Amino acid sequence: MIYKCANCGLAGCYPKDFTRLAEICPTKDEEVQGSLAEKYEEPENHMLAKNAALVEAEGYGQQTRILEIINFANKCGYKKLGLAFCLGLRYEAMQTAKILEAHGFEVLTVNCKNGGFYKAGVGIAKEQTVFNDAEEVMCNPIGQAEIFNKEKTDFNIILGLCVGHDSLFFKYSKAPVTVFAAKDRVTGHNPLAAIYLSKIYYKDKLFPKK
Ligand code: SF4
Repeated sequence: MIYKCANCGLAGCYPKDFTRLAEICPTKDEEVQGSLAEKYEEPENHMLAKNAALVEAEGYGQQTRILEIINFANKCGYKKLGLAFCLGLRYEAMQTAKILEAHGFEVLTVNCKNGGFYKAGVGIAKEQTVFNDAEEVMCNPIGQAEIFNKEKTDFNIILGLCVGHDSLFFKYSKAPVTVFAAKDRVTGHNPLAAIYLSKIYYKDKLFPKK
């Protein structure tokens, strides 16, 4: 099934009106939807889903994301937080950790270059590195996740990990993860800026000519 919620003008899923569901519609997928009530009853899922809904409502249009993360972590009873950050965002990581600590959390910060592995180790040639350096150190998101796993963090926060490195962090983190900021080196870490400009200034970059 090729689902196209993004193009659906009916949106009978919200507000709920099942007379307005699209012909090809994930809401109609009984095989998936039929098993979800049970999944949301699992204690951790229930707790996460309920607290996410509470944070959404309490902070709606009022709280910035860092305040929502604090609210969510408090509601979930998390005490020990892992902040997985990009070395290029060290100042932001330091300040974020200070804020979280000011709200009573214990915060572990681990940067992306921990471990000091060379990119050559995953088959990257000197010419394929950012700075044409045979000894360029690679990002090590598995290391970030495994350090937090070993230290038993309750909740992990991503701050500016690269595309794909974040995927590995999600894959290996045992604790639940949220993203504080997504990296976009060109837009000051505001990836949607490219989307807002996609009809005009960025059009040629984003829509390949056929
Ligand atoms: S779930 Fe169905 S009704 Fe809702 S937006 Fe997607 S296609 Fe449309």
